[in-house]
Amino acid sequence: MAGKLIIFSAPSGAGKTTIVQHLLKQELNLEFSISATTRERRGEEVDKKDYYFISKEDFLHKIAHKEFVEFEEVYTGTFYGTLRSEIERIWDEGKHVIFDIDVEGGLHLKKKYGSQALAIFVQPPSLEVLKERLTGRGTDSEEKLAERFAKAEKELQYADRFDVILKNYDLSTACDEAEKLVGNFVNS
Ligand code: 5GP
Repeated sequence: MAGKLIIFSAPSGAGKTTIVQHLLKQELNLEFSISATTRERRGEEVDKKDYYFISKEDFLHKIAHKEFVEFEEVYTGTFYGTLRSEIERIWDEGKHVIFDIDVEGGLHLKKKYGSQALAIFVQPPSLEVLKERLTGRGTDSEEKLAERFAKAEKELQYADRFDVILKNYDLSTACDEAEKLVGNFVNS
C-alpha cells in the first residue's frame, strides 16, 4: 500500500486539532505526525505524543542535518517542524499520515507530495470567534495572544490554495464531513 498524507491546516483555534483527534479514533488507518517544536509544553501535553519538545539548539542541529521535510518559525523564536523520519515511521507501519500543521507548512507539504496528499483548510466561522477561542484557552500571555491573532488574520486569506475548505461552524458536522472526505481519499 502506498502511504498517503492528510494535511489539516488552519489558524490556531479553528478547531483542527479536535477534528484530527476525532479522525484518529475512526478506522481510517491513520497515524498522527508528531511535530518537533521548541515551544514550552502546555498543560496536559505529553512529550513524544503531542510533540517532540526539543531545545532550540537541537532544532537547529536537525535543520543543519536536513532532518525536516518542512519547518517554520511559526511564532518569533518558536520553531515547529515535520521530521522526515516521522513520515517514514508511519508509512513503514502501513498507515497514512495525518498532520495538524500551520498554513504555510501545510502548503509546503502539498507542493512536495502533490496528489499523494490531501490538503484541508479548516475555516472558523469568523475571526471574532477565533479570537474568543484563543483567549478562552487562557494559556498564552497577552503578547503571545496578539501575535496569534495577527497570524490567524493573515492565514485566513490562504484558504483558497487548499484542496478543500472545511467549514467548522458546528464541530460535529465538521467531524462528519472530515470523515467522509478522508475516507474517500484514502480509499481512492
Ligand atoms: P500550537 O503552539 O498551538 O500547538 O501550534 C501553533 C501552530 O503551529 C499551529 O497552527 C500548529 O498546527 C502549527 N504546527 C504544529 N506542528 C507544526 C509543524 O510541524 N510544522 C509547521 N509548519 N507548523 C506546525
